[in-house]
Amino acid sequence: MKPDFYSFTLPKLEQFLEEIGEKKFRARQLFKWVYGHKITNPELMTNLSKDFRDNLNNIFSFELPEMLFEKISVDGTRKYLFDLGDNLSVESVLIPGSGGRLTLCVSSEVGCNLACKFCYTGKQKLKKRLSAGEIVAQYYQVSLKLPEDLKVTNIVFMGMGEPLDNPTAVFDSIDILTDSLGFCLSRKKITVSTSGIIPMMPLITKSGTRLAVSLNGSNDKVRSEVMPINKKWPIDQLMAACQEYTDATRDKVTFEYVLLKGVTDSIEQAHELYHLTKRIPCKINIIPFNEHPNSGYSRPTDKAVDKFQNELIRLGAHVLRRKTMGRDIYAACGQLTTAQKSSNKELPV
Ligand code: SF4
Repeated sequence: MKPDFYSFTLPKLEQFLEEIGEKKFRARQLFKWVYGHKITNPELMTNLSKDFRDNLNNIFSFELPEMLFEKISVDGTRKYLFDLGDNLSVESVLIPGSGGRLTLCVSSEVGCNLACKFCYTGKQKLKKRLSAGEIVAQYYQVSLKLPEDLKVTNIVFMGMGEPLDNPTAVFDSIDILTDSLGFCLSRKKITVSTSGIIPMMPLITKSGTRLAVSLNGSNDKVRSEVMPINKKWPIDQLMAACQEYTDATRDKVTFEYVLLKGVTDSIEQAHELYHLTKRIPCKINIIPFNEHPNSGYSRPTDKAVDKFQNELIRLGAHVLRRKTMGRDIYAACGQLTTAQKSSNKELPV
């Protein structure tokens, strides 16, 4: 099988070309064509030698995963489904924001073995860790679909899957997306969200991207119930890892906190959350739960959400309430799944 072009970082592409007897500088030319000019047809890459051009389609696959559908929410959020072959598919979500902000939420896995209780993806066992190319392709395909005057401004790894369960592909995709010869995205506009795979968190620091932590519990008892990963890496270790990130980068951490009625939304828990995070430069995103079938949880009332948020504000926390986007098309936070569209093949943890 031919290697997928979109999985190569620039250094890896240079090395690969040298190994097959081609000139190293061709890698830079290819990056400029494919990512800078969005041209994937070798015949149009006019500054390449004719022999190399003629051979390119034998060396690489330039095929992008097919976009199976685009669903548009009443609030302008768009959800895309991509075909990965082998009866597997993956979703991405494009979220409009204020001031021209356009955030693409990408997936890193089909399904997820971490089984967070509030998450629809977590109900679907891990079927595939995406390649770097399959992550880059989500951005590429969506960019191609946008009108000339619109650009994706931010990327968040908050779609299907735990990014730190698939680190090589995730950080290679970030290298590709931020390469100055191509899409040239800023690392500070990319956020990697983790449920707390602590040994891998220094990779986020090293990558220069922003860190978001899916917290969703203010003490070990509740967090372990909602997020089984907490039994392996409890809250005190998680907070220490966040502190290391902020010490090294001087950036804030974003803590995501899903409000589940009667489980994570009490005023006592608002206090615990404040005390847990107060020494770490951070902001807290509270996310009223987005329902999905058989979750067993429900969304608190707007009044209860206000009360929780106001208590945190009163205590002095930097807290934002995540505006629910795309709920009508199952594109909101925690609602992504391709369980109905993917094969039953499962991968071990
Ligand atoms: S919240 Fe993230 S880590 Fe947890 S099950 Fe869902 S996709 Fe996996």
